[in-house]
Amino acid sequence: MSENIKVVVRCRPMNRSENESKCENIVEINDYVVSVINPLARLVPKKMFIFDSAYDMITKTEEIYNEMCYSLVESTIEGYNGTIFAYGQTGCGKTHTMQGDGNWNNIKSSGIIPKCFEHIFERISMATNVRYLVLVSYLEIYNENIRDLLNTNESTSMINHSLKEIPGVGVSVPTLTTHSVISANQCSEWLNLGNKNRVTAATLMNEKSSRSHTIFTITLEQSPFFNSVVPENDLGGIRRGKLCLVDLAGSERQLKTGAQGERLREASKINLSLSALGHVISSLVDGKAKHVPFRDSKLTRLLQDSLGGNTKTLMISCISPSHINYDETISTLRYASRAKKI
Ligand code: ADP
Ligand code: MG
Repeated sequence: MSENIKVVVRCRPMNRSENESKCENIVEINDYVVSVINPLARLVPKKMFIFDSAYDMITKTEEIYNEMCYSLVESTIEGYNGTIFAYGQTGCGKTHTMQGDGNWNNIKSSGIIPKCFEHIFERISMATNVRYLVLVSYLEIYNENIRDLLNTNESTSMINHSLKEIPGVGVSVPTLTTHSVISANQCSEWLNLGNKNRVTAATLMNEKSSRSHTIFTITLEQSPFFNSVVPENDLGGIRRGKLCLVDLAGSERQLKTGAQGERLREASKINLSLSALGHVISSLVDGKAKHVPFRDSKLTRLLQDSLGGNTKTLMISCISPSHINYDETISTLRYASRAKKI
């Protein structure tokens, strides 16, 4: 099982304000080992954490894709489910890693999601004897409410979609918009549209983007290409793989600023789904746990059929190199190593 679940760490470069205020780099990365200096207790030995891999500040997303994502995406094209998560404190590179920095024309500097689009359609164009139906959807979980980011209809876009459990099949959101796509460009257009929908709501809801989870889902249905006519209702030959690309809410402790009322409720819900996810992953890695607590949050319920079993999971934990983020960095590394318990 743990072969199917990989946890890696990515450290971003110092940002401008960290450079200007002469922040100290307290993170060292060697292969798969991350060591962190405690800036307040320098004589104390560095804290060391071991992962499936660790990437320093000069590593490009392309390298992470080739090493960790490529085979996961291949298996979704073959009909298995897979999930890629970005976890970490706000500002540490989750969206940079998943989406890139908006330069869609430069595939080399793009994020994991656009690379998946390219990869999938390149593979489909080479496939012989099978045909593919590719569907995309994009949703956001905010305050344990599910919002459809690809619904352009004002009157229904804000509704809270419900989850439906189909015995033996899994959990789905039947009312969610899905679009069929025939190219990587079309996928990027839907991703951009969803991002716009998210941003509009964010300005109304005060920096909400760091407090919601987004899931971009690509479903790949393949059916054999027979020369003879296949009866329309013959689903026998269909294989279905699903790839979930998840940009998680910021993992920073929301409560330390003395949040009240709405903010407090929101904060406890974020912590709830992030801790539920941590528990689900560690009990899957453990393999011996009898009960996997999928039901504890919307996030884990939604991903139930894409975590564990025959599926592949990659968690990319994003951290800052700077001493001012020491506490959050340690908490991200603890979360990530608890998930994997290597
Ligand atoms: P998050 O989504 O975790 O809140 P972002 O992805 O928005 O964080 O990153 C914050 C800023 O840092 C962005 O301007 C982003 O371009 C930059 N950044 C993050 N990671 C890297 C990286 N590995 N290389 C270069 N810039 C990065
Ligand atoms: Mg982000």
